Amino acid sequence: MEKVVIIGSGCAGWAAALYCGRSNLKPLVLTGKHPGGLLTTTTIVENYPGFPEGVDGHELMTRFQKQAERFGARTQFGEVEAADLSKQPFSLIVDGETVRTETVIIASGASHRHLGLESEHLLENKGVTFCATCDGALPIFRQQALVVVGGGDSACEEAMYLTRFGSLVYLVHRRDTLRASKIMAERALVNSKIKPVWNSIVTEVLDAKQDKVTGVRLKNVKTGEESVLDCAGVFVAIGHLPNTRIFRGVINMDETGYIIPTRGTATNVPGVFVAGDCADRVYRQAVTAAGSGCAAAIDAERYLAAKNG
Ligand code: NAP
Repeated sequence: MEKVVIIGSGCAGWAAALYCGRSNLKPLVLTGKHPGGLLTTTTIVENYPGFPEGVDGHELMTRFQKQAERFGARTQFGEVEAADLSKQPFSLIVDGETVRTETVIIASGASHRHLGLESEHLLENKGVTFCATCDGALPIFRQQALVVVGGGDSACEEAMYLTRFGSLVYLVHRRDTLRASKIMAERALVNSKIKPVWNSIVTEVLDAKQDKVTGVRLKNVKTGEESVLDCAGVFVAIGHLPNTRIFRGVINMDETGYIIPTRGTATNVPGVFVAGDCADRVYRQAVTAAGSGCAAAIDAERYLAAKNG
């Protein structure tokens, strides 16, 4: 039986694993289907302390993993399909196998939010994507007009990245000011290859009949006016949803699915702790996720010490 199982392998998960490892708890990290989490889909991370020149997101996560493994963390690739947290030891079903554990740290992060359009769904991976870093260099996007939807840091980052490949990048935002941090917004707006389209929402991605993206149908939310913007790719960057579905009804969470801790990183189920983006609708930074992973590990260690005398 495990002492600590950490669900998720982003900043929060690896930081928790590092601290649990150094406490001799030999934590088991279940990576989830995207090892390294969302940070592996960004290029350069400029706001993680200790890297004055910035660091590649994938490299940062690889370093997190190596550091945790150096102190005894074990890594298992796989996704938790179900969890029985009603009695000790807890049971997690991972790719059909049962893992039993005294404590769980949920660090399952968040996934890309979708627009919710049928055409978006039909054209996913056929020109509609949720990750510029993953897909931006594909030949279908080269020297073509591209659309990024959203007004946050992710949308600005994606738009800037895509200027390397596309001929022009439209930044379609539903308001007339960006939500992004000042520095990111300024960088995006001074870029001559980025053209903002304000007060507009995408009502349809064209053209499902042709099985490829040829444009987007837009609606101006102020005037109600409809228009079509030709493009070869649509990059949706409108935020994230917490990966907490399997804990619904058992672990306290808000209406969006963000876990609500009771005290520190403890949840309403004794022995189950939470860290990172799946419990953070406010800060959602790599460094805050890592900090909460550290806190969850300390809480889990203290819980085990009290439980086992
Ligand atoms: P975010 O800050 O929540 O921004 C989401 C954007 O999408 C907002 O502009 C929002 O519009 C828009 N939006 C949401 N739902 C929409 C819908 N259904 N239709 C159209 N637009 C919609 O998300 P994020 O940009 O992914 O950033 C998440 C966190 O990661 C933030 O804390 C951010 O600072 C951080 N981050 C940092 C960096 C960096 O520093 N390098 C890079 C990426 C992300 P409204 O503005 O109208 O709400």
